[in-house]
Amino acid sequence: MSRVWNFSAGPSCLPEDVLKECAAEMMDYNGTGQSVMEMSHRSKAYEPIIEDAEAMVRKLMNVPENYKVLFVQGGGSTQFAMVAQNLGIKNKKAAYIETGVWAKKAAAEAKKLGIAVDVIASSKDKNYSYIPRVEKITGDYDYAYICFNNTIMGTHYEYIPETGNIPLVADISSCVLSEELDVSKFGLLFAGAQKNLAPAGVTLVIIREDLIPEVENCLPGTPTMLAYKTHADNGSMYNTPPCYTIYVLGKVLHWIEKNGGAAGINKLNVAKADLLYNFLDSSDFYHATAVKGSRSLMNVPFLTKYSTAETAAAGKKDEADRTDAEKAALAKEKEINDKFVKEASAAGLVNLKGHRLVGGMRASIYNAMSIEGVKALIAFMEKFAKENA
Ligand SMILES: *Cc1c(COP(=O)(O)O)cnc(C)c1O
Repeated sequence: MSRVWNFSAGPSCLPEDVLKECAAEMMDYNGTGQSVMEMSHRSKAYEPIIEDAEAMVRKLMNVPENYKVLFVQGGGSTQFAMVAQNLGIKNKKAAYIETGVWAKKAAAEAKKLGIAVDVIASSKDKNYSYIPRVEKITGDYDYAYICFNNTIMGTHYEYIPETGNIPLVADISSCVLSEELDVSKFGLLFAGAQKNLAPAGVTLVIIREDLIPEVENCLPGTPTMLAYKTHADNGSMYNTPPCYTIYVLGKVLHWIEKNGGAAGINKLNVAKADLLYNFLDSSDFYHATAVKGSRSLMNVPFLTKYSTAETAAAGKKDEADRTDAEKAALAKEKEINDKFVKEASAAGLVNLKGHRLVGGMRASIYNAMSIEGVKALIAFMEKFAKENA
């Protein structure tokens, strides 16, 4: 067996200890003679699994009593609609901070459902390379919405906007349990599991109880399955939950606890990110795209010296409008990026291709990525820089 260093943005690497436990229990979970994949979700064997997963979320995230912890399906993307359908019901008006693709998609979905969306701040002017500073949000908004860690742009909030009585909603898909977070500052938090918690298939929702409307008070036409109330009233078992994914999620949470909980994991994440950013900042071959003070601990997009202001501008033009010099510069940029990704992959460092909106490379260094993996990446980057200087 040979394992690679997997820098995928999601689904992403899982702790090896967790994978081994899953493998050991695959044919016979806890003397039941069945795999957890095969079990009724209403069985005596399964119920403690989902109960433990919820208890572990509450424990590790220090979730206050007056919040519900829900496991739903449909990924982070379904939450874009669910948030609007369940929270946008009074004034049908919401504030969004635009920090990249995921925040924009969320705002678009709310608009589609008839919510008056106010984009109160945006970092579009600098290709979303920073987080705008919005200390205070006021107005007759039903909720205010932020994407706390921007997986594609590699940015992260270093503050929490003050919203007073306006419930603050945050997409924490790619930073959940990478750090300590004061849940009481938020009305609703959600996270698709496949970045930092589990395989794909489950979405964690943490919502303050008083924000959960009756099913009939959601926006008109809201399906039963898209009302938080449905899941809250049924212990996330209104219908068949993604049983196996929740089982793995529970194991990942126990692994986080063994590593010191949110605070302990955060220390490791800071150490990993510091290594990589310090390397990037001191390199004359590479540079990070996210601005200092807004940088993600989890997703680190970076470019080489062959990506310049010139190539960025040329890349936005129609091909026919590019000069020969611009075409040559773009071709060189692409050649270097492709070479990096290919040679890294051959060296056992995989999924480093950048998102097309940023270009270059992206290393996602979630909780399960060890510091050895980051050191291996930096060693490869040093070698590649020398060979392609
Ligand atoms: C991946 C991601 C999503 C989308 O999640 P899906 O589960 O694929 O719908 C939403 N928001 C953020 C921040 C993400 O990283």
